[in-house]
Amino acid sequence: MKGVTFQGKEKMAVKEVETPSIQDNNDMIVRITASGICGSDLHLYKGGIEPKQDYVVGHEPMGIVEDVGPSVKTLKKGDRVVIPFNIGCGECFFCKNQMESQCDESNPHGEVGGLFGFTEINGGYPGGQAEYLRVPYADFTSFKVPESSELDDESVLFLSDVIPTAYWSVQHSGVKKGDTVVILGSGPIGLMAQKFAKLKGASRVIAVDQVDHRLDHAKRTNHTEIFNFKKHEDIGALLHEETKGGADVVIDCVGMDGTVPPDESFGSDFDNQFGTISPIKT
Ligand SMILES: [Zn+2]
Ligand SMILES: [Zn+2]
Repeated sequence: MKGVTFQGKEKMAVKEVETPSIQDNNDMIVRITASGICGSDLHLYKGGIEPKQDYVVGHEPMGIVEDVGPSVKTLKKGDRVVIPFNIGCGECFFCKNQMESQCDESNPHGEVGGLFGFTEINGGYPGGQAEYLRVPYADFTSFKVPESSELDDESVLFLSDVIPTAYWSVQHSGVKKGDTVVILGSGPIGLMAQKFAKLKGASRVIAVDQVDHRLDHAKRTNHTEIFNFKKHEDIGALLHEETKGGADVVIDCVGMDGTVPPDESFGSDFDNQFGTISPIKT
């Protein structure tokens, strides 16, 4: 099959790679029909987390079940599934308490759970930017799209990472009715977080980014206030002023490959003295 492979820092190539097959009884093989590209892929692309040569990347896939192992109970060939970034066994303490990213069973190489397409330290699982993907713990590590659904791939694909990550960021930061919320970054996660903050009742949602077309998109689709930090010398002080003493919640949807102006300490400048900072670090 063909897959998108790592060929060294900032070098990717579509190459012929081995087609996956069932290895464990609870595995399934998915024929990929759509897959997102993520800011997290930059950590590999830029060499911060370095994969092996020819490693297949990608962790936002969906597709059609092609084959299932004998222990898979809830899925069959032909089912349509969205696959999350995290690989969870479904049985350990963490999986049973909605902390699947910390699964005790899916990653033999570290403390955190396994991840698709995120190198050896996250379990060494090949990613979903390929024609086929092996999914361990298939019953638990998948969302089945109801057979009655007529939604196209693009309408459900973001359940793999963007929507749950954004929702989690808003839910766990405790946004409530009437809050002022600053959201750093207006990429896919930031745009979704803006929507969820509004749904939670935030009265002001302020988008901060350096890319005008992203900010325009935020304003047009989510009716946020927008600030381009490249156009203001002291964005922290400005937002402190604009929010009359600071936001109730600041959500960082940029993460470690983002751009921060020198000598800025973003989050702590924006929230108020009793506010919340939620670093999502995508
Ligand atoms: Zn992602
Ligand atoms: Zn687990």
